Amino acid sequence: MDFELNETQQLIRTAARDFATKRLAPAAHDLDERERFPLEFIKELAGLGLMAVNLPADLGGSSAGVVAYSLAMQEIASACASTAVTMAVTNMVGEVIAQFGSDAQKQRYCPGLANGDLVAGAFALSETDAGSDPGGMATTATRDGDYWTLNGSKQWITSGAHAGVMVVWARTAPRETHPGTRGISCFLVEGGTPGLRIGRAEDKMGLRASNTVSLSFENCRIPSSHLLGVENGGFRIAMMALDGGRIGIASQAIGIARAALQESVRYAKDRKAFGKSIGDFQAIQWKLADMQTELDAAYLLTMRAAWLKENGQAFSREASIAKLFATEAANRICNEAVQIHGGYGYIREFGAERHLRDVRVTTIYEGTSEVQRIVIARALLTS
Ligand SMILES: Cc1cc2nc3c(=O)[nH]c(=O)nc-3n(C[C@H](O)[C@H](O)[C@H](O)COP(=O)(O)OP(=O)(O)OC[C@H]3O[C@@H](n4cnc5c(N)ncnc54)[C@H](O)[C@@H]3O)c2cc1C
Repeated sequence: MDFELNETQQLIRTAARDFATKRLAPAAHDLDERERFPLEFIKELAGLGLMAVNLPADLGGSSAGVVAYSLAMQEIASACASTAVTMAVTNMVGEVIAQFGSDAQKQRYCPGLANGDLVAGAFALSETDAGSDPGGMATTATRDGDYWTLNGSKQWITSGAHAGVMVVWARTAPRETHPGTRGISCFLVEGGTPGLRIGRAEDKMGLRASNTVSLSFENCRIPSSHLLGVENGGFRIAMMALDGGRIGIASQAIGIARAALQESVRYAKDRKAFGKSIGDFQAIQWKLADMQTELDAAYLLTMRAAWLKENGQAFSREASIAKLFATEAANRICNEAVQIHGGYGYIREFGAERHLRDVRVTTIYEGTSEVQRIVIARALLTS
């Protein structure tokens, strides 16, 4: 088994690490504190090829593959998890368009996502009453000559206020004839389209520099050419995109947890109690050992899922396993990091507090841990 990274993967990781440590990490506390969307960093990320790591070069991407994408995501998340989620969703939107779009759609949106001209992509699936169960969505799209008219609303949309293009799901056939997830289609909606209204930003526990908004569509007309894929075939697109997205969120969780562990090791060496470094106490050593062990396991599971996807093999179950384990392990690691920091873990000045707030959502979005268990168990019981 070859655990070595190839040259492209090493280059991407080094570029992401340099940017993360030199540019992003020094700004992360301030971005979080002031809830400032990391606009200035997006152009720089795009310049490094990190907004479209897995897109082909003819669409403006880095063509570096899924493993490189995961490595880059880990580096960016270790510095600023809010910037990382903005990057994750944009990469996912670019990939969805590249995979399911017509040539015209690909040419219109992918290069702009890759070079930052469109700022970000948004993925609009969830609704107020339909999160884990997107089949329950109420947003509709009705045909109107050469147009589709969208009505309804979406909830929790990352980068919704800044995105130049959004992938939006809506019901295009009634439940009576198309039950469950069958009558759902997928559309490309450009930021600023008349009839699209952006709600106020959510006041979140963590990822406070990322933008999370509701969207409402009030007779929002889009050209029929903005249908992505086939009519009533949108649910499959969402599920395939989420499979890949889960590798991104597992990678984000690893990055956050890695930062929490590194800060804990540093602190354990520096902090004195009872005349010793706290790292001399076995209680702290065992915590650190468990944190590193879980982090390595999360990394290996995530690399396996990324490698399978990159090599065109089935990866849905492995992506769910990676997401489930990495996000839950990262939550445990960030929680222990606060404990190791004692009282200083609980205040804003040290990174441990931000990491714990930021990591919390990773077991919730892109499919909760419960949903990942459903996917894994279904694969076991139906094989
Ligand atoms: C910061 C943030 C950013 C987000 N960004 C996006 C985005 O960009 N685009 C987007 O479309 N969505 C986004 N989401 C939405 C996110 O994906 C949903 O919140 C998530 O899928 C859960 O849906 P829900 O909140 O409706 O919870 P529910 O589905 O109401 O679930 C509530 C609880 O019930 C459990 N549950 C539900 N069904 C089952 C079941 N069958 N078996 C066992 N347990 C079950 C869940 O696991 C959970 O614990 C974001 C959310 C947040 C918080």
